[in-house]
Amino acid sequence: MVTTATAAVVHEPQGTFTLQQVELDDLRPDEVLVRNQASGICHTDLVAQRMMTLPAVMGHEGAGVVEAVGRSVQRVRPGDRVIVSYPWCGACPQCMEGKPYYCSEHMPLGFGGTRLDGSGTMKHNGSQLSGAFFQQSSFATHSITPERDVVPVRDDCAAERLAALPCGVQTGAGSILNTFRVGARDSLVVFGAGGVGLSAVMAARLVGAAPLVVVDIIPERLELALELGATHVLDARNGPVAEQISEILPQGADYTYETSGNEQALEDAIASLKTGGQCGIVIAPHFGEKYPFSPTEVFKRAACLRGIIQGSSVPNTFLPRLLELNRAGRFPYERLIRTYAFEDINQAVEDFNVGRAIKPVLLMS
Ligand SMILES: [Zn+2]
Ligand SMILES: [Zn+2]
Repeated sequence: MVTTATAAVVHEPQGTFTLQQVELDDLRPDEVLVRNQASGICHTDLVAQRMMTLPAVMGHEGAGVVEAVGRSVQRVRPGDRVIVSYPWCGACPQCMEGKPYYCSEHMPLGFGGTRLDGSGTMKHNGSQLSGAFFQQSSFATHSITPERDVVPVRDDCAAERLAALPCGVQTGAGSILNTFRVGARDSLVVFGAGGVGLSAVMAARLVGAAPLVVVDIIPERLELALELGATHVLDARNGPVAEQISEILPQGADYTYETSGNEQALEDAIASLKTGGQCGIVIAPHFGEKYPFSPTEVFKRAACLRGIIQGSSVPNTFLPRLLELNRAGRFPYERLIRTYAFEDINQAVEDFNVGRAIKPVLLMS
């Protein structure tokens, strides 16, 4: 069994990644060793560096081949192709109810840097690294991950398509299909035409939502939003956004969806709701800080402001469904992907930060 891996280690918040040899811990009975073929890059990989003990190995959208399994693993075998999605404990009331996206342990499992019992999965020159990011740390050639987090998939799909799915694309599509259950002719305004926002657009088109409005400030992304199903696009630089939206939706929208993390966008998303409408947020402006916010705007619309994690998705059923829709040409998320060799991770991050890449995916092999 492999006991070493090559990992992209980050030593200071927003610092560069350095490829280093790391030593992997022994597999626990319920764990799987995955040889990563690809890993998506998501904003959480960058912002979470401030929440972690560094040095750390980030990465939470791994896809590859099972190389070894612990003795009690039953769902997969060596050689199986898998996607590794978000972690859940399997034992809390929400997990037991079939709602792993509400797992009460999701913070320590995601950001603790260790297994839930506090043990580490990776060392460098004998000293412990923060690994186990989302219980996978997929910016590495190999990941140790719990059996319950892997999603077996068919063997005929390109690795970058698998690795693009399990966080941002799942969140965007899941918010529309699972959380909101948007229906035909429901109106929707999406703020931010990045990977999450555009995945929401594709899912909303699938169910016939209309009007389907997208707000951003990058002309190429607004163009892409139109190609992927938006009925209207608005450039936030062309005047007050809520006013621009009210020309299209005088009564307001059934749903608004804020993916940009911009304070003004959140205000506009609430101000653009019709009475009884719902606003979903997948990112918070000023994470962890108080936000000057008027509850009046929510109250007078009898509106719902809803935080959404992973699009309320159960990965074992939802990811294979998205792959089937993609094969049928009905969910063309490959249009968002830009691939990079693993050793070009710093270029990928730079392109992501400046908006040149919507969904960067690292290729390990
Ligand atoms: Zn749980
Ligand atoms: Zn993510």
